[in-house]
Amino acid sequence: MATSEQLRIVIIGGVAGGASAAARARRVNATAKITLIERGPSVSFANCGLPYHVGGEIASRDSLLVATPKLFRERFGIEVQTDTEAIEIKRDEKLVVVRRADASLESIPYDRLILSPGAEPFVPPFVDTTLQNVSTMWSLGDLDSVMKVVGSSASPQCVVIGGGFVGLEMAEQLAHRGFQCTLIERQPQVLSTLDAEMAKPLVAALEKGGVIVKLNTSCLKIESEGNLARAVETDQGTIPADLIINAVGVRPRIKLAQDAGLTIGPRGGVQVDGFMRTSDENIFAVGDCVEYQHGVLGRSALVPLAGPANRAGRIAGTVAAGGTCEPMRDVLGTSVVRIFNKTSASTGLTQAMCRQENIAHRAVYIQAANHASYFPGAESLTLKLVYTPEGKILGAQCVGGEGVDKRIDVIATTISLGGNVHDLAGLDLAYAPPYGSAKDPVHMAAFVACNDLAGSPKIVAPDIDLTDFQVVDVRSPRELETLPLPGAIHLPVDSILHDHTILDPSRPTVTVCHSGKRAHVAASILQSLGFEDVANLTGGMAVRSQCETRHPEALNTQATS
Ligand code: FAD
Repeated sequence: MATSEQLRIVIIGGVAGGASAAARARRVNATAKITLIERGPSVSFANCGLPYHVGGEIASRDSLLVATPKLFRERFGIEVQTDTEAIEIKRDEKLVVVRRADASLESIPYDRLILSPGAEPFVPPFVDTTLQNVSTMWSLGDLDSVMKVVGSSASPQCVVIGGGFVGLEMAEQLAHRGFQCTLIERQPQVLSTLDAEMAKPLVAALEKGGVIVKLNTSCLKIESEGNLARAVETDQGTIPADLIINAVGVRPRIKLAQDAGLTIGPRGGVQVDGFMRTSDENIFAVGDCVEYQHGVLGRSALVPLAGPANRAGRIAGTVAAGGTCEPMRDVLGTSVVRIFNKTSASTGLTQAMCRQENIAHRAVYIQAANHASYFPGAESLTLKLVYTPEGKILGAQCVGGEGVDKRIDVIATTISLGGNVHDLAGLDLAYAPPYGSAKDPVHMAAFVACNDLAGSPKIVAPDIDLTDFQVVDVRSPRELETLPLPGAIHLPVDSILHDHTILDPSRPTVTVCHSGKRAHVAASILQSLGFEDVANLTGGMAVRSQCETRHPEALNTQATS
């Protein structure tokens, strides 16, 4: 029972944002009556860990239960009501109506209400999740139903629909578990947080791990017998399945907020201010149900990730409990995913997003080792930096092995602090041979971007149509055999100084190597020898070979928007 002076804080949704808000509110206000309402059986579970229990990497289901209702009650004095669904907010009376597992209804009074109901998986009309072996992967209930199938299939085959984060992780983990797994994606690439050429190595990693990847493939229907799915019918044929995971995306769960008349933003999430207040000053909202301010787009965006949910929960918990804090910082959608031995991470905008938003941009690529290449165990990574023609960093993507996450986190930090490519080039980063290089891949990308902005030498995109250029391939003869570049003049980088006379200095010239590094040296030399119009193909053949299409481009106008 709350006493008359006690502040009553009610929180709807007891996982990432809700649990953070509850614990924070208690730390700020030792006397408030805090009630956490969760419609599922558990609070504070690790939804990000669900795929890894399916694959067996997280052996015990219990490890996913990060904090129990008992801990919330005993340590924090927070009343946890599980198996209890909030079904209505009566703002005039400041009441939340809840329905218990036994269908009884109750009204819970609040002074401050925090909404953190998350997102709901989008289920297309052709996917029937009432079939026993068809599921989304968004809750412990989903996990349990999938684990029943996983444990009982004799010669298991599965189909994962959707190549976003959850789809990729599920495909990896089901393959790890011994399923013959097919991943279907309607788009020509997986993971829309990457540009197409950066996403390709992930498909290669999936295929190497035994997953069949079908891009440009739409699921049409699920064939079933009784209450079991048997196959997935696609526009490219039928695929038998003992298990089907629907992972085509999520949308903010806003019904409660909408029914209560709270303002919904232009992207379909609850609108909040910097302190996570909704249009009702006594109601806060956090997590996947809200629109955050995006740090690069300069407008609101849906960012269904755990980091923002936890930080926003902390802010809402503080303010709702009567404390003060700094407002929520802009989000960048910084994310990372592991697919077998490949890691990919990104922050901010991709080039595709820049084009969509009509943002003028430039982009460079580098290939580098994660640590000193002479130190055993070095792994290669590809880093792509996207920035404005003035040098403001718009985003970055990185694919490789070890150290991918660190590079993206450094760049995300720089973007958050308003840094540009020159700031990135000047960062004082830790270095020793087992960890990095004296010129870190982050520096290298920034150096290339700075060169590009200075125009010395110029840079062209890796997907440029080279037909009308004098193309100088500076790779070694052996490299040409593995990845030929028809029509190019072969002049290894070490011969450029002596043999450049075979080239025509008046023709627009593009230099090419494997990664763009040696081609940069060659382009610089040719430029200083008086070649009028010379540019380096950024990313080299390594990236060009991942690009599906070719675009016309003049040397002095790298495609910008
Ligand atoms: P949630 O954590 O989803 O919590 C919402 C809770 O509200 C749910 O438990 C729900 O049952 C409850 N609820 C909803 N409606 C009501 C109601 N009316 N009454 C009572 N309770 C209600 N993010 C990352 O950043 N990195 C990752 O690696 C990552 N991996 C993920 C993997 C999976 C399989 C999943 C499912 C998500 C992953 N995410 C990841 C996303 C991340 O988990 C979410 O962004 C984050 O949990 C959102 O927090 P939230 O509080 O908004 O919602």
